[in-house]
Amino acid sequence: MFTTLLVATHNAHKTGEIRAILGDLFEEISDLTAIPGMEPPVEDGETFAENSAVKALAASQERPEAWILADDSGLEVDALDGAPGIYSSRYSGEGATDASNREKLLEELSHPEKVDRPRTARFRCVVTVARGEEVVAQFDGTVEGRIADEMTGEGGFGYDPLFIPEGYEQSFGELSEEIKNGMSHRGRALEQFREWLERNPL
Ligand code: IMP
Repeated sequence: MFTTLLVATHNAHKTGEIRAILGDLFEEISDLTAIPGMEPPVEDGETFAENSAVKALAASQERPEAWILADDSGLEVDALDGAPGIYSSRYSGEGATDASNREKLLEELSHPEKVDRPRTARFRCVVTVARGEEVVAQFDGTVEGRIADEMTGEGGFGYDPLFIPEGYEQSFGELSEEIKNGMSHRGRALEQFREWLERNPL
């Protein structure tokens, strides 16, 4: 397959993971840094699927001829009744960074009424494929795990240093990119996209 995929993100970590997972299928995988000046759309959906479609359609409006892939993802923590969920990237408020979001998460879990609750959690991802300002397909992926007591590892991004996937003792921040991509929410959603592409060549 020799076409270009435009990933509707400014998050270089996401683009890097998507390139590592799908790189063999596309001639080029670019992202929104290729469209200088494009403002990120307002993510006003109530689900990962809705926000994923919002991002895909906004990019498709700018580049209707291109194949677009958008990823909306986040962390659901059971002790916090599913938070931060769709608000994962802005959990600690205006000007949030990955570091401030991780600190807020540990802080929330340290409250006396939360401290004894199970630290089970999952990452979710919904990937939207769009072209010509229409959604063509959506795929989702989940990885179950738990929130660590402290941050470990330098790898990945976002909440990776705090997330220990089921069956492991190390966080996504410590595990290799290959191991993370092989089981992550994003890896699972993109694996379905790969299977779809076999049946629906672009
Ligand atoms: P989005 O860019 O609006 O989809 O927000 C995704 C947010 O969820 C990121 O900013 C991270 O905080 C978190 N997130 C999503 N996927 C991952 C991951 O693979 N590792 C760590 N954090 C993630």
